[in-house]
Amino acid sequence: MNLFLDSFPVGLFQCNCSILGCPQSKEAIVIDPGEEGDAITKRLKAGGWTVKALIHTHAHLDHFGATADVKACCGGRSYLNKADQFLWDLHETQSMMLGLPRASVDPVDEYFQDGQILSFGQHSLEVLFTPGHTPGSTCFRLASGERQMIFSGDTLFRRSVGRTDLPGGDFDELAKSIKTRLYTLDGDSEVIPGHGPATRIGDERRGNPFVRV
Ligand SMILES: [Zn+2]
Repeated sequence: MNLFLDSFPVGLFQCNCSILGCPQSKEAIVIDPGEEGDAITKRLKAGGWTVKALIHTHAHLDHFGATADVKACCGGRSYLNKADQFLWDLHETQSMMLGLPRASVDPVDEYFQDGQILSFGQHSLEVLFTPGHTPGSTCFRLASGERQMIFSGDTLFRRSVGRTDLPGGDFDELAKSIKTRLYTLDGDSEVIPGHGPATRIGDERRGNPFVRV
C-alpha cells in the first residue's frame, strides 16, 4: 500500500505541517496547518488531493493558524482534542503573545476520542491522547501499511520535549504520556515532531535527556 507523505516547516516557528495521502483514492489528511495557508493549499491542489480532515496535535496558534484558510480552499473537517478548546478560543491572545499574525479562525468541527481511527483511503491514523505540553496534546500513529510512524506534535522532539511552562502545561503529565504512550511503541517507529528533525522511538528511549525510561 503506497503512502504519500509530505512534511515541511511553515511560518515563524517552523511548525512541521504534514500532508498524508492515499495515492489510490487521492484522499488526504493534513496535520497542523500552522501558517502559510497559500503554500499548503498549493501543495494540496498540485497533488490533486481531496482533503478529508485537518487535524491538530494541539491548539497553540503556530499549529492551527492556517486551518481556516486551507479549509476554505480545499475542504475537509477540522479536529481537535476538546481539552485544548480553551487555547483555540484564545487565538487572538496567542497571536499577541507569540508575535504571530492574527489568524482567521473557524470553530472546530469535531473533537477526537482517544483511540479513534481516522481513515484516508486505504490508510488510517490512530489518535493517542498525550497530555502535558497542553491538556489536549495528541499524537497520531500511522496504523496502516508497513511503515511505522508517529506524529508527535510538541510532546516529543529529537532529544528534547515540549515546554510545559505555558498555560495548561504539566511536566509530570508530559513525562507520563511519553513513557506510557510513545516509548512503548516499536523502537524502529519514525517520529515526525511538531518542530525540528525527525527521529526514532528507540533513539529517544535511549538518548532523550529530558524523559528517561
Ligand atoms: Zn506548542
